[in-house]
Amino acid sequence: MSIEFQENISLKPYNSFGFDVSARYFAVLEDAGQLPAIRDFIARTKLPVLFVGGGSNLVLTADLNQLVVLNRIQGLQMQDQADGTVSVTAGAGEEWHAFVRWTLEQGGYGLENLSLIPGTVGAAPIQNIGAYGVELKDCMSFLDAFDLETGESVVFTADECQFGYRDSLFKTRFPGRYLITAVTFTLSREFNPVLHYGGIEAQLKARHIHSPEPLQLSDLISDIRQAKLPQPAQLGNAGSFFKNPVLPAAKVEQLKADYPEMVVFADRPGYCKLAAGWLIDRQGWKGFRQGDAGVYSQQALVLVNYGAASGMDIIELAGAIQADVYQQFGIMLEIEPRCYP
Ligand code: FAD
Ligand code: NAP
Repeated sequence: MSIEFQENISLKPYNSFGFDVSARYFAVLEDAGQLPAIRDFIARTKLPVLFVGGGSNLVLTADLNQLVVLNRIQGLQMQDQADGTVSVTAGAGEEWHAFVRWTLEQGGYGLENLSLIPGTVGAAPIQNIGAYGVELKDCMSFLDAFDLETGESVVFTADECQFGYRDSLFKTRFPGRYLITAVTFTLSREFNPVLHYGGIEAQLKARHIHSPEPLQLSDLISDIRQAKLPQPAQLGNAGSFFKNPVLPAAKVEQLKADYPEMVVFADRPGYCKLAAGWLIDRQGWKGFRQGDAGVYSQQALVLVNYGAASGMDIIELAGAIQADVYQQFGIMLEIEPRCYP
C-alpha cells in the first residue's frame, strides 16, 4: 500500500491546543505495511519524524521542519482466554474513548475509569495514561511497535515498557524511535469497579447509585470530566499541563507544617503525592489570562488557548507558574505534554 507525502500542511486541526504551525512534510499512516516507505523517506530527506495520534498531549511551539505522521491504523480483536480473562488488541490509530466503550459493551472490564481521555490507543502507553486511580499499565499486556532504527517489528511486554507515573521508556529513553502499531490488553470478565476517588464517590451518592454497572460508571466519569475540563473543540488545551509532584514523605511533612491545608495523597512507601493544581491555585493563578494564553478558571492544572496564543506563549506562562511555585514551595513542577520542535 503506497503512502502520500504532502508538503507544508497546517497542523491546526491535529493538535488540541489549536496552534497554527505547519509541517514541512505530512503523511497519514493507515497500515503497518506503509512503515518501510516512511523509513525510506526519512533516510532520503534526513529529517526527523513526529508521530501524532489525536494531538491531545502536544505543545507545538514553531513550524516543524520534519515529517509528521498521523497514525490512523485501525482494527479491534477480542479473544477469551482459558483462565477466564479476555485478550483485546486495538490498532494504534483507534480512538481511545471509543475503544474503551467497545470493550465495556463486549463485557471486558478494567478500562472504565479511563473513559473520555482524548487521543488514540497507540499514544496511551507513551505516558501510561491514568485517571481516577487506574493506569494503562494495570491492564496492558504487550504492544507491537516498529523500530525506525532497525526497520524491524518488535514486541514490548508491559514490564519492558518501564511504566511509571505518566511515564514510560518511550517518553524518556527512546522518544521518536518506536512507532506503536497495536496495543494488547488483558481484561476481566468480572466487573471490579475502582470507586475510591472523591469525585466518583460524590457523584454516586448524588445519583443514589450503590453498585454502578460498567457502562453507567463510564457515563458517570465522562459526565464529571465534561463538567470539570474544557472541551478542546471550544477551548484549546492539552489536559493537565503539569504532573503532580511525588516527594519524600519527610519533605511533605515539613511543607504540611507550613501549609496545613495542602492537598496530599499517599503514594509508594516513603513518598507522598501533592496535587499540583492546589499549589498553582494557592499562588493565585487560576483564571489568570495574558493575551490568549491562560489558566483555566475551573482547574488550575489546565493551561488554555483562548484563540490566538502560540505554543511559546503557553510555554512562557508555564515558566512563570513554575518559577512562582518553586519560589514559594521549593518544588519544581514538571511539564506533562510533549513539546516540539
Ligand atoms: P498525541 O498528543 O498525538 O501524542 C503524544 C505523544 O505520543 C507524542 O510524543 C507523540 O509523538 C507520541 N505518539 C503518539 N502516537 C504514537 C504512536 N502510535 N507511537 C509512538 N509514539 C506516539 N492524559 C492522562 O493520562 N489522563 C487523563 O485523564 C487525561 N485527560 C485529558 C483531558 C483533556 C481534555 C486533554 C486535552 C488531554 C488529556 N490527557 C490525559 C492527555 C492525553 O489525552 C493523553 O496523553 C493521550 O494519551 C494522548 O493521545 P494522543 O493520541 O492525542 O497523543
Ligand atoms: P481531582 O479528582 O480534582 O483530584 C486532584 C488531584 O488529586 C488529581 O490530580 C489526583 O491525582 C489526586 N487525587 C484525587 N483523589 C485521589 C485519591 N483518592 N488518591 C490519590 N490521588 C487522588 O482531579 P481532576 O483534575 O478532576 O482529574 C480526575 C482524574 O483525571 C485524575 O486522576 C487526573 O489525573 C485525571 N486527569 C488527567 C489529565 C491529564 O491530562 N493528565 C487531565 C484531566 C484529568 P492523579 O492525577 O495522580 O490521579
